[in-house]
Order: sequence, then structure tokens, then C-alpha cells
Amino acid sequence: MQYFDKVEFADRSEIEQIQSIRLKNTVYQATASQFYRNKLAMAGIKVGDIKTHNDASKLPYTVKEDLRSSYPYGLLTQPVDKMVRLHASSGTTGAATVIFHTENDLNSWADLVARCMHMSGVRSRDVFQNMSGYGLFTGGLGIHYGAERLGCLTIPAGAGNSKRQIKMLSDFKVSVAHIIPSYALHLSSVFTKLDIDPKSLHLKIMLIGAEPHSEEVRQRIEDIYGVKAYNSYGLSEMNGPGVAFECSEQSGMHIWEDAYLAEIVDPETLEPVPEGELGELVLTTLCREGMPIIRYRTRDLTRFIPGECSCGRQHKRIDRISARSDDMIVLKGVNIFPMQVEKILMSIPEVGENYVIELERQGYLDQMRVKVEIRDEFFVEDMRSLQALQKKITGQLREEILITAKVDLVERDSLPKNDGKAVRVIDNR
Ligand code: ADP
Ligand code: ZN
Repeated sequence: MQYFDKVEFADRSEIEQIQSIRLKNTVYQATASQFYRNKLAMAGIKVGDIKTHNDASKLPYTVKEDLRSSYPYGLLTQPVDKMVRLHASSGTTGAATVIFHTENDLNSWADLVARCMHMSGVRSRDVFQNMSGYGLFTGGLGIHYGAERLGCLTIPAGAGNSKRQIKMLSDFKVSVAHIIPSYALHLSSVFTKLDIDPKSLHLKIMLIGAEPHSEEVRQRIEDIYGVKAYNSYGLSEMNGPGVAFECSEQSGMHIWEDAYLAEIVDPETLEPVPEGELGELVLTTLCREGMPIIRYRTRDLTRFIPGECSCGRQHKRIDRISARSDDMIVLKGVNIFPMQVEKILMSIPEVGENYVIELERQGYLDQMRVKVEIRDEFFVEDMRSLQALQKKITGQLREEILITAKVDLVERDSLPKNDGKAVRVIDNR
């Protein structure tokens, strides 16, 4: 089966027409939930006020706290017995939030994921290994059903157990894998230990996402595995994976605007930012009946990439997520995003596959300590070259973040690692 939907190549006016119809419908459906009935009434909005997609800006925002305070059923538009599955966010930033799906919701989600995978070149003849955690995390079943819908032979490998992952990749001639980028880097050191060249496998595409990562990390993954790596963005509140995905151009992720209405706003003023500028991504579900969510503040910072993509698709593109707004480190009055540190580290060839940023307080002073794994071949070098390397990293970091961090060079595999999303910042202040 070739998975393709003509809405993928719809022009702007068609996309906007679909959005207008679906936004009206979504707002209408949402009022069947206790939460939105109250919220819209408080904002003085009636269903009839929403006539086109442009009217989205009249609607109130929904924040993570709303989902928490109406836990568990407050946003359902139908009785619980109409729901067929629930998922939860990973809880990276606090208590997890729970999302319910009807059968139609699951169907349209699988279609979206299949569309994403097809766009990045995956076909039914591919053998697909899903190396992300199953269970409540949406990267498991969410991607899984998309791959099956596309017709791939799908291996639900789950997270962790690296040796077994490698055996399956090899035994079943896996051509496409879905993997969290920090785990892809870690897995490469297991390949090294086993003395297997990842390029000797049959992998040609890796779908990477679920956590912020830099272009430098993508390049490392592509070099190590000899694949094309495509960025995949999603969040459980918006189903999970399948919200935005890279096409073969690898220049930003197309948001499926027939399924999500996307806005980018200034997180302080909540006003739209000028086209092309960085702000917080706000998303409205347009195809979800069981638990529609209106103007959800994702806390993810990105920008719309101006202009059309050369692939011909007119669904807008977002840039890679530069940070979660709540990831920002404030140190000595300077704002720093972990991604700035990653970009520098990953561009230095001696640096290995893992790092962690620790924030500490010494007396009255806050300090940043960056622990960096160094590649084996450099770790055996003499003291003087290690000191030179340390100095080089400190200097390059200072240029980027304007702060002199303490840099500890450590051996491969000595930093803690996760099977799921990496924890990059530890705040001990
Ligand atoms: P949690 O918010 O608890 O981590 P989710 O599992 O729903 O729960 O994760 C969604 C979040 O993961 C997004 O809001 C975003 O911050 C991050 N994320 C997902 N995909 C990407 C990606 N491709 N690039 C950067 N961040 C991503
Ligand atoms: Zn494109």
C-alpha cells in the first residue's frame, strides 16, 4: 500500500477552508465538555462567533494546568465508555496529563503518522523498528499504528536493552527505525563495544524526535548510522507524534494544518509574533472528537519558517524546537538554553555522545558545571592535551552563553543515561 493523502499537497486556500470548517466544528464539539463550556462562557465566546480559521485568536488559551485541574474527565465531550484508549505525557515538567481517544481519534492519528512517515520516504516494503518506550508514552503505540497503517513490517522493540535492539536491527534487516536522539547516540557506543559498525546494517532512515536536539546531533546520528535522520515533533496533548515532521528537504517540519491549527505567540504578551520570529507554539486540534483542545500553549519555542518548501507542500513549516520555555536556565542573570550548550559540545570532534549540565551554588554564587563524555581515542591522551581540550570547550561555551562554566571531562559511559528522554540539566541550587 502506498500511503498518500491529497490534502498533503493542498494549496493555502484549500488548507484554510478546511481549517475554517474544522475549527467551527471543534469549538462546537468542545462545548460538550464541562471544561470548555465554562471556559468559553467565561470568555464570552459563543460557537457562532467562530466563522473562519482567523477567529481562532478570539478563543481563550488552554494551559497544562487546565488539564491537570480538570483531571481526569473534565475535557471529555462524550461519555467515558466511548473512549477506547488513554495516553499520558511523559511528565517531564510535573504531574503527567492524560488524554483520551475515541476510535475515530485513533484512526485519524494513525493516518497522520503514516502520512509523516511516507513523506520522509518510508514505504510499506520497509522493515520498521520502534525503539521508543511503549506504554503511556505516545512514541510507542502512536508511531506503531502509523507504521502498521503504512504497511511496514513493524517491530515493537520498545526502549532499552541495547544488545537486543542491535540483534533485531541486524536479524530482520531493519531499514527504518524510530528512536529518541539521545538514545541513538548512546546506542552507538554499544555498537562500538560490540565492535559492530552501525553502517554495516540495513538502516537507511531514522525518525528522531520526542526531545529537543540540535542540528549537530542530527548530523552525528546521520554520520554514525549512515542514514537520513528526520525530525519528528509531537506532544501527547495533541495526540503525540504526527503533529509536525520533516520532509525529504530536511529544512523544517511541516505542521499538518488540516489537523492542527498552529499559531506562534510571544509567551509574555500572548500576541502573535511577526512572521519568522521565535515564540511559543500554540496548537488547536482540528480532528479530535473525544477530547478536543483549543489553543494549547505547548511551551515549546520555535518559529514559522517563511517561504515555501521546495517539496511543494504548503503546510507551514516550523523550525526545530529551540527549547521548552520552562527549560530556560537563569544563571547570574543570564538566560541560557541547554540547546546552546549542546550545539557547541556536539560540534567538537573530541566530545563523545553524552553530557549533562549541573547548576550549583557556591556561597552566594551560582555556577554551571558541564560534564562531558570524551571519545575513547582522546581520553588516553596526555594530561596536557586534555587540559587544552578543556580550555577549548570552556572558551567556545563562553562565546555562546557568556558564562564561564566549569568543564569536567569524563570517560565514555560514565554519565547517567535514560532509555527515554534525556535529562540534560540537574539543578542543585
Ligand atoms: P512531556 O511534556 O511530559 O515531555 P510528551 O511526551 O507529551 O510529554 O512530550 C512532548 C514534548 O516533547 C513536546 O512538548 C516537546 O517539548 C518535546 N518534543 C517532542 N518532539 C520534539 C522534537 N522533535 N524536538 C524537540 N522537542 C520535542
Ligand atoms: Zn517540504
